[in-house]
Parts: sequence; C-alpha cells; structure tokens
Amino acid sequence: MKYFGAHVSSSGGVFNAPLNAQKIGAKAFALFVKNQRQWKAKPYDEKVIEKFKTNLAKVGIKPEMVLPHDSYLINLGHPELEQREKSLNAFIDEVQRCEQLGLKLLNFHPGSHLRKISEEESLDFIAENMNKTLEVTNDVTLVIENTAGQGSNLGYKFEHLAYLIDKSIDKSRVGVCIDTCHMFVAGYDIRTREVYDKTWKEFDDIVGFEYLKGMHINDSLTPFASKKDRHQSLGKGEIGIEFFKILANDPRMDDMPLVLETIDESIWKEEIELLYSFVK
Ligand SMILES: [Zn+2]
Ligand SMILES: [Zn+2]
Repeated sequence: MKYFGAHVSSSGGVFNAPLNAQKIGAKAFALFVKNQRQWKAKPYDEKVIEKFKTNLAKVGIKPEMVLPHDSYLINLGHPELEQREKSLNAFIDEVQRCEQLGLKLLNFHPGSHLRKISEEESLDFIAENMNKTLEVTNDVTLVIENTAGQGSNLGYKFEHLAYLIDKSIDKSRVGVCIDTCHMFVAGYDIRTREVYDKTWKEFDDIVGFEYLKGMHINDSLTPFASKKDRHQSLGKGEIGIEFFKILANDPRMDDMPLVLETIDESIWKEEIELLYSFVK
C-alpha cells in the first residue's frame, strides 16, 4: 500500500503535526522535531510527548509512516572539529527527541565539505558521527537523504549513500530517503519508463532497495542535471506528471512514507488525492 503525505507544520508544538497531516488527507508525514533554524531547544515536556502520541493515534497514522527531518544547521561532515561536534550533539538530541515521540526514523542531509577537505574525508566524518549516534541511541533509523549536488553538499551520488551505509556499525539502523527532485537535478533521469527503470536498477545495484525507507515526492523547477535544488508542484516542473504515475504503481515504494515538499502547500490535499488517483 502507498502512504502519501507532506512535510507539515509543527508550529505551536509537535503535537499539531498529526492534525495538520489529517487535514490534507495524508497517510504519512514529515515534520521538524524542533525549530530547524536554531541550534538549541528546550527538552520536551512530558505533556507534549503524550499529546503527540495521542494525536498520532487519533488520526490513525503509524509511527513508522512519520519521517522527521533534521535541522538545516547540522553538518556532520564539517571540516572543523568544533563545528562537527556541535553538529553531532544537535543530531543526537534530534534522534533522542524522535525516540521520545515513539518515532522510528530521522531523515538528514549527509553534510558538506565546504571545499576545505576532500569528499572522502568529509564522508568519513559523517560516517564516524553516524556511528557515534548509533552507539548512544536505540530505536531510530538514520535515514540519509540524497541531495541535489548544490555547492559542496555530499550525497548527490548513489555511491555516497552506499559509502556511508558500508561504514556503518549497525546496518539495521541506517537507510536512505530519495528525494525525486534531488535525484533528477543530480543527473538521474526518471522521466520515461525506460530511464525510470534504468535509474532504479542503478540504485538497487549500488545502494539496494532494502535500504529505501522513505521518499520526498517533488517535481523540479530547474532542468535535468542542473544541480540546483528548487522544488515544484507535481506536474508543473521539469520532471513532469508521467513519472509520478509510474511511481504510484511501483510496489518497491509500498509501505514507507512518501512525503511532498512541493512549494504550494495550499494544494497538498489535491496533490495527495492526485497521487492516490494514479494508483491502479
Ligand atoms: Zn527532500
Ligand atoms: Zn530540496
């Protein structure tokens, strides 16, 4: 079964996110577990945790179908030790927040080398920090997102994702989230059945479908292989609607959160309905 949803607001408190998801007919959702533009946040009140769990149960969304997104400030591959440690501490805090909320996944952007160290050195730092996090946490799977390849961001190649998985001390708690806009602008074509099959075969060969834990469902404002990360509403961008029709009927994406991050949230409800209408 397909679990479509969107990255909903948790403004006013994380417990509002499940209610916001329900309003748009989502069966899955993403959220920030703390303010994504600040380093620190006060620990959750016990009441906040209970309220979140109650609301999640009330709307009938399974914890496995929630794909929290980490803060944009975190860079686990930062060239400088001090910044890397700051990132690691913030990352661990986010994983622990997910655990407190009873959630199973945390989606993160791998990191950036900032042109000060090599890609490999930065990837090694990321792997090291993922392992440090796995050592001190228990229930949450670290879900690496593929990126557009903008600036010095790592994760734009399937090989980067595979490299991080390979270095992991606990492969049962690492996974990947594929963002359709990012894959497309990074140079993986998916616009026709033929290239769709070829790209996903490459993904399976290099990363493996067993590691796919969720997806971000976005069209792209910018052209193929442009390495520019600009999301667009479904069918209004360079990827086009055909891809989403194929995806909606691909059983390899069953039973995982498939979350919109498209630019116009006022039409998320319609976009979710559209995706469900494609399922044969
Ligand atoms: Zn994304
Ligand atoms: Zn993006």
